[in-house]
Amino acid sequence: MLKKFLPNEHVPRVLDITPAKLREMGIKGVITDLDNTLVAWNVMDATPEVIEWFKEMNENDIKVTIISNNEKERVRVFSEPLDTPYVYSAKKPLIRAFNQTAKQMGFRKEEIVVIGDQLMTDVLGGNFAGFHTILVVPIVKTDGKITQFNRMIERRILNWMRKKGMITWEEK
Ligand SMILES: [Mg+2]
Repeated sequence: MLKKFLPNEHVPRVLDITPAKLREMGIKGVITDLDNTLVAWNVMDATPEVIEWFKEMNENDIKVTIISNNEKERVRVFSEPLDTPYVYSAKKPLIRAFNQTAKQMGFRKEEIVVIGDQLMTDVLGGNFAGFHTILVVPIVKTDGKITQFNRMIERRILNWMRKKGMITWEEK
């Protein structure tokens, strides 16, 4: 069971995964996570580097599908300008979205890699579904929930400090 959390390989950035490398491995399709894999979770649009990465994959006939647990609007707004298929609310690590995407691509599982920044969702799901999995380092150290939590704590501390008269800035 624990082995299912282990990626087949890990690289610093998604940009390190090149068409040449994938072709060498006999890969024809890529299933990739969005948040903190392609861009930081709070960045709406693809960066020039990521746009270029999609273009290179396309030029080399490697199909890319974005599979995200995030909600429809976030995933749609990011994916549509890239003209790439996407799945939102994917419920990773459940394997359904992975399997449906493989079917749509028309490739065997050995011909597809799964890329993501989280062991609990991307790697576990990709491994359960039987794909080659590649872990990347999260683009930023926060994620949505952790940030919200941090902000909540931060606000409490600031309020406490204000009450104590320890800070005067922001006060009118
Ligand atoms: Mg992620």
